[in-house]
Amino acid sequence: MPQHFLLSSKAKTLRLADVLRMSDAEAEAAFKKIRWTDTQGEPVCPSCGGLDAYPNPRPNGSTRYRCKACTKDFTVTSGTLFSSHKRPLRDYLAAIAIFCNEVKGKSALALSRDLGLSYKAAFVLAHKLREAMAEELRGRTVGGAGKVAEIDGGYFGGYIKPANHVENRRDRRLAFNQNGKRKAVVIIRERDGKSLPAVFKSEGAALAWIKKRIQPGTIVNADEAPSWNDLHSRFEMRRIDHSKAYSAEGACTNNAEEFFSRMRRAEIGHHHHISGAYLLRYAQEASFREDNRRVSNGDQTRMVAALAMKRGPSVDFSGYWQRHVKTA
Ligand SMILES: [Zn+2]
Repeated sequence: MPQHFLLSSKAKTLRLADVLRMSDAEAEAAFKKIRWTDTQGEPVCPSCGGLDAYPNPRPNGSTRYRCKACTKDFTVTSGTLFSSHKRPLRDYLAAIAIFCNEVKGKSALALSRDLGLSYKAAFVLAHKLREAMAEELRGRTVGGAGKVAEIDGGYFGGYIKPANHVENRRDRRLAFNQNGKRKAVVIIRERDGKSLPAVFKSEGAALAWIKKRIQPGTIVNADEAPSWNDLHSRFEMRRIDHSKAYSAEGACTNNAEEFFSRMRRAEIGHHHHISGAYLLRYAQEASFREDNRRVSNGDQTRMVAALAMKRGPSVDFSGYWQRHVKTA
């Protein structure tokens, strides 16, 4: 039996202990190399692109640069997801490593215990890491001529607590007994390729998005749900009736369902109720983890750090607790 990837030495290239032992200067140097790859870590002015900057430390001694061309001050995190960070950079690198190591998802509460953060600070940080992961999915299309993709939908959120006494119980399947928060996560997953999730009111509302994000010429696998029927006019379709079999004549959506089993485990095991404004972020996290499940923890940490450096300041959190929640 082949060894599980996570047990192999290839999966383990970064030790958290080494990250936590880094000095401030070492953590800063690591972020500089990740942010300014083209100049091997030499500062590049985020305002004008100038390459000539000199150290202009803050009064408290922390590193800051001044651009010779436009005279603006900047740091390694200016204009990134970690701009105006409060903690030492080492903690952010450690948070990314912890988040990547926990392959089924990391709860904010556990992260707050690991790093000695308040729950709110850990919640915001974990969501910023999901925002970084989402950066990789921006503008993605999957499939192409001769390629195979699978689509599937899963419903999340809108949990209605069952009443204790039987006479008060409601049929939670009925539309008027639902609270409108129930949303469909729809996943497109290329076989042996990348995935892409999005959130809709229902599976049927996802059709225009699916047509835009799956390249023409792709063979699309879907289950028997009538919501997908309209896609036959656009793609060569293979349908699998799950009441009869999980795979028949090459048609199956097992890869798409793996994504949902990952997301359900994260929901049940760590986050309990994932819904509303943050549902898309959890889906994007599950997608990133699924696509990179065979990438070593060191490379994953570098990838997420690089995405955080690439992405501008958080759109979900702008330094204030739950202000401006957007999910785009
Ligand atoms: Zn400049």
